[in-house]
Order: sequence, then C-alpha cells, then structure tokens
Amino acid sequence: MSPPKKISIVVPFWNEKETLPVLLERLSSVFAGREEAWELLLVDDGSTDGSAEWAVAQAGRHAHVRVLRLSRNFGHQMAITAGLDRADGDAVVVMDADLQDPPEVIPELIAKWREGAEVVYAVRRSRQGETWFKTFLASSFYRVFRRLAKVDVPMDAGDFRLVDRSVVDALKEMRELHRFMRGLTSWVGYRQTAVEYDRAPRLAGETKYPVWKSARLAFDAITSFSASPLRWILLLGLLVCLLAALWVVYVMIVAMVDPGRLARGWASLLAVMFFLGGVQLLGLGMIGQYVSRIFEESKHRPLYLIRTDTRAKGSN
Ligand code: UDP
Ligand code: MG
Repeated sequence: MSPPKKISIVVPFWNEKETLPVLLERLSSVFAGREEAWELLLVDDGSTDGSAEWAVAQAGRHAHVRVLRLSRNFGHQMAITAGLDRADGDAVVVMDADLQDPPEVIPELIAKWREGAEVVYAVRRSRQGETWFKTFLASSFYRVFRRLAKVDVPMDAGDFRLVDRSVVDALKEMRELHRFMRGLTSWVGYRQTAVEYDRAPRLAGETKYPVWKSARLAFDAITSFSASPLRWILLLGLLVCLLAALWVVYVMIVAMVDPGRLARGWASLLAVMFFLGGVQLLGLGMIGQYVSRIFEESKHRPLYLIRTDTRAKGSN
C-alpha cells in the first residue's frame, strides 16, 4: 500500500486574531477521521494584533500546526508564495484566514485531485457580505484580465484552491516580483478543474483589501501579464500618421477646388504638427516594444514545463 498522502493547508494571515481559532477548529473537524495526513501552515504576514503569537503557541501544542512568520507585512500574494515555497504536502490547499473560504469544501477539492486533477480551484457560486460595487469591480477585472493576458484564469475564483505537488514545484520556478498568484497558477497549465461553493461573509474583523488595494492588485496583475498597453501606443501612432496623411490629401483637394477657403500657412502647419505627433507616438511605441521584451525576459519564467517524460521500459 502506498503511504498516506499529506495535504498542506497554506493560510496567509494578517491580524486575524478572531478568526484563526475558529479556522483551526473547523479544519481539525474536517480532517478528523480522514486518511490523509495534514498540516496547517499559517503564514503570518507581519501581524501586530497578537495573532502571530497565538499561532506560534498553537504550533507548540498542536501536532498539525506550523507557523511561518514573515519579517514584516509583505502582502497577501507574497505570503502565499512563502507558504507554497515551504509546504511539503503532496497537495497544497491555499485559503484565506477569515473563513470566507469554508474548510468544509476541502474534501471536495481532494476528491477531484484524487480523480487526477492537478489544480482544483474553488469558484464562488455566490458571494455574501460583499457590496455589489466590489462584486462588479471584481467581475469587470476578470473580464479585462482574461482578454488582455490571454491566460485562462477562471472567473470568480479567489486564491482558494488545491494544487498538486507538481504544480507547486512549477510555481516555485516563477520568481517574478509582481506576483499575481491566480494568474501564475493558470499560466502553468496542467489539468485544471473547478468546484463550486458559496462564499461566506468574513467571520470577524475588517477586510484587508480596501478598494484601492484591490485596484493595485488588479493593475499589478494586468501589467505583469500583458504588454498590450505598450502595443496600443504603436497602433495609436500609426493611426495619427494615417490621419495626418488624410488631412494632407483633404487640404490639397480644397486648395485646388476652393483655394480662398484656406488661411495661408495654417493647413501646412497643422499637417506638420499632426505628422510629428504621429511620428513621436510611433517612436514611443517602438521603444515600448523593446521595453516589453526586456520585461518579458526579466520575469525569468520557465520556458516550458514538463508533466511527464515516458520512455520504453529497459531503454535508456
Ligand atoms: N492578508 C495578508 N496580507 C495582507 C492582506 C491580507 O496575509 O497584506 C490575508 C488576510 O489575513 C486574509 C487573506 O489575506 O487571510 C485575504 O484578505 P481579506 O479577507 O481581507 O480580503 P477580502 O476577502 O476582503 O478580499
Ligand atoms: Mg476575506
């Protein structure tokens, strides 16, 4: 018989004093009686409310609890990264500390994983306790991101998901600084599937993602996955040059048909300005193309990822 599988639950938290004890309790009852070994890897993202001290105390007495403390607040995405880097389970579940992601969904994630899926993301069937404004912003963001980044991120999935060891290892190879973990997890490929769940309201405390922070994450996500905005400058430059050419043609026709209508010098001045504007945009757009290549190179993403390498038995 193969040894039992181990599941690591990575939970980044920042000042979640009220929710952590409930989280631990609910996780324990989810795993009670299950065959898998499990660990709760709490990643303290620079908490100042005593929650980190609480977590460390639990690690001392609870066999399943492990705590990583970051030296300061590095942000949610970095805390997830730290957890993924250190988790050693055969599969890793990432979830929020505020119990918006119910631990009771984990068995469903594990079931899909056992069926062969390598990424099982939990998709929100419904959201409770969030304003329509935030929901609207979130869904607009996913639409724009999917179109620009050409990465198939699932609509309405947060960071709550299970990833297989092979995917964790792939993610470890992605060391870019601006990290949008949902995008990266889709980017790596592998067999991905979804499980639906109802998103609960935050159990206690305040959201750590006010609108401006969500907007910053969205901007980071788009700019780190897409160089399209740089290409738009080039297109705009071409368009302006084209308009300038049309303008010149128009002016020449007017000059032949009805020369009295044109003030002297004005039309040619405008044509020169138009052309220069277009040429400048073209120049910027060209620079943009090189910048985007530098940017792509600087991410040092793996060139490809291999799922398996199979060869005939006995050959080598
Ligand atoms: N979080 C974190 N570092 C941060 C901000 C948030 O580790 O700088 C954690 C937070 O404690 C929670 C998760 O990230 O476990 C998601 O944050 P939150 O629930 O506040 O976001 P929301 O659900 O409101 O979008
Ligand atoms: Mg939350």
